[in-house]
Amino acid sequence: MHHFKYQKGVLQAEAVPIPRIAQAIGTPFYLYSHATLEHHFQAFDRPFGRVPHLTCFALKANPNLAILRIFGRLGAGADIVSGGELYRALKAGIPPEKIVYSGVGKTDEEIEFALKKKIFMLNVESPEELRLIDRIAGRLKKKAPVAIRVNPDIDPQTHPYISTGLKKNKFGINIQESLAEYALAREMPNLEIKGVDCHIGSQLLLTEPFLEAVGKLKKLVAAIEGQGLTIRVLDLGGGLGITYDQEEPPHPREYARAILQALGKETRTIILEPGRVLVGNAGMLVTKVLYVKRGEEKNFIIVDAGMNDLLRPSLYGSFHQILPVVKKNARRIQADVVGPICESGDFLAKDRTLPLPRAGDLLAVMSAGAYGFSMSSNYNARPRVAEVLSRGDDFQVIRKRETYANLIALEQIPAFLKDKG
Ligand SMILES: *Cc1c(COP(=O)(O)O)cnc(C)c1O
Repeated sequence: MHHFKYQKGVLQAEAVPIPRIAQAIGTPFYLYSHATLEHHFQAFDRPFGRVPHLTCFALKANPNLAILRIFGRLGAGADIVSGGELYRALKAGIPPEKIVYSGVGKTDEEIEFALKKKIFMLNVESPEELRLIDRIAGRLKKKAPVAIRVNPDIDPQTHPYISTGLKKNKFGINIQESLAEYALAREMPNLEIKGVDCHIGSQLLLTEPFLEAVGKLKKLVAAIEGQGLTIRVLDLGGGLGITYDQEEPPHPREYARAILQALGKETRTIILEPGRVLVGNAGMLVTKVLYVKRGEEKNFIIVDAGMNDLLRPSLYGSFHQILPVVKKNARRIQADVVGPICESGDFLAKDRTLPLPRAGDLLAVMSAGAYGFSMSSNYNARPRVAEVLSRGDDFQVIRKRETYANLIALEQIPAFLKDKG
């Protein structure tokens, strides 16, 4: 569900005609709908209502401060994977006691930062990390709240790059071995064992893998508690998929119902870490057609956004629907929609049938709110694009377009290379 609809042939974000935004700030830009973001959070969070739970938005999907504030005001916590994301979450006003920290490669500095800020818990991904956290907490004279991220060896049936809960993946501690780690953790003086955690992958389109994970976690918890430890928190991770093309993921309501049913009588606090499902379809990338190049074998629609702005098609071969912002009755052509980057992997869509556009026409690359801007780069010395939030008949820039000066702001020429004056 989203609030991007045609009105008299012109695509609108809520009540704002998209050409108006393009006219005001130029292209390309990411565009998010405030109403959609609120709606998505509530649709996800409400079905868990009666159960003690915390919905921690996975920042890596979209860490813009304004978006974090929208969720934060609705009661969201944050799932972070770096010190930078912790900084962002705090700046956006997410209370530290609602922040969970995942990630296989936390540095000393990041662990110290998290402990000093008193976050809710660290999800520990290796035996060595457990020992390191204990040492750092000891030095800071603190008790570090931890869960062990277990790898339940479940096939989430998604793209291999975003499967994370298989034995061959780098994430978590093997679920069988984790029991011994809990026993060790218990002996470490500076740890407070809070819970168990897993996250099996992203863009999941079935409930079964989640339920399988819940089943395995429940068994593990029983075994851990059999050793005399108390587990207060079950972190089930994120991963619920969205519709990019024809996919039919479970509605968040069904997802919640299935999970709650699998949990049975459960009084522990449940943590959920949704990313994509909250922001993916609440955002689009708006780009302008620069050239239409017709070839013998292929046609190319060359636009002003590239793989540096939206990496998913190049990285995963992902599908994003592409819509003309202004409907037209031109005949249709089949073309690749490509960016200006000097790489053949720079495409937003392959062999797509679209009404023949002309230079200057706007295209909307849909479902780009998750892992869109957050994965963007300055490759080819391209300033990162603006981000815009629509609300009713108004819109606000929530991240300015970068300038050329921004591109070089942190670089320094060593004295020996400076021209003698
Ligand atoms: C990426 C990630 C998420 C969010 O995944 P989505 O598929 O966007 O919901 C949640 N938890 C962890 C640990 C992650 O790495």
